[in-house]
Amino acid sequence: RRAEFVAMRDLPSVTADGQRVELMVNAGLREDAQALDMVGADGIGLFRTEFQFLVSATLPQREKQQRLYKDVLDAAGDRPVIFRTVDIGGDKALPYMQREDEELEDNPAMGWRALRLALDRDGLMKAQARALLEAAAGKVLHVMFPMVSEPWEYEEARALVEHQRIWLQERKKKLPIAVKYGAMLEVPALAEVLDILLPRLDFLSIGTNDLTQFLFAADRAHPRLAERYDWLSIAILRFLDRVVRTCRDYQVPVGVCGEMGGRTLEAMALVGLGIRRLSITPASVGPVKAMIRAIDAAELQALMRELLDGGARDIRARLTQWAVERNI
Ligand code: PEP
Ligand code: MG
Repeated sequence: RRAEFVAMRDLPSVTADGQRVELMVNAGLREDAQALDMVGADGIGLFRTEFQFLVSATLPQREKQQRLYKDVLDAAGDRPVIFRTVDIGGDKALPYMQREDEELEDNPAMGWRALRLALDRDGLMKAQARALLEAAAGKVLHVMFPMVSEPWEYEEARALVEHQRIWLQERKKKLPIAVKYGAMLEVPALAEVLDILLPRLDFLSIGTNDLTQFLFAADRAHPRLAERYDWLSIAILRFLDRVVRTCRDYQVPVGVCGEMGGRTLEAMALVGLGIRRLSITPASVGPVKAMIRAIDAAELQALMRELLDGGARDIRARLTQWAVERNI
């Protein structure tokens, strides 16, 4: 099947009934950008900027950040790159970063991490914003904020980037032709305030790794819990269904960037919910594209509706059966 996936590289990611599904990749290193051409992806849907911070012995200076972002944008050419601002703290602690609270957090995943830390320590965020803005001069910059829990956090983060943009503009620096702002939906509470948040967003990206651990209150890294809750459980799918429908109402593009989207059957369920953008690990692009090209999205969407409305308990089995019957 490997040869099949290689041949798949240049074929469009479109369902049998003509629905386009964008397939992007998750990345974090300079080298990852090369995977775009290798697998024939539509862009980088999640660039985890904290990788550079985690592999560095000292805090990466703004110039160094900027060089990385520019290299990645150059490698991507005219394909979009969605840069996620640093998701550090919690279990991704930086040895060179001083913290006032030296004591360990009991629940680092729910602790002082990501946007929470970035807004409190805004020197880091300002430097990153400038690095991103300067790296994307003459291009469209996509910025996305991790672990947004309430709309004001998004507003504050966006204002911070905008402030840097104006600062650079006043100094006659070359700027991006546009800045697109997005939030990650990883904290379930955010789903309850989408009516407030969505009008301010250019795109929403669902991080199913953190989202499912918070929905089920089950540590994503705990070996005993890792397989306990199914990504195809009705609770997750109903949750996602509501989010997708709300985004459609507000006409805000929504994608999934968690690992869930990289598994063929789970990706199929997501397409069945109306998701039209997946950002996945590069190795999954071939298999997921093959699935997309084989399915009838309208038929699948009707099946998902039936399963969700009917409270089906065996969604994995039902989707598998549907796929097998159709030779997918
Ligand atoms: C997620 O939580 O689903 C996600 C994509 O972010 P990360 O895996 O980096 O936490
Ligand atoms: Mg996450």
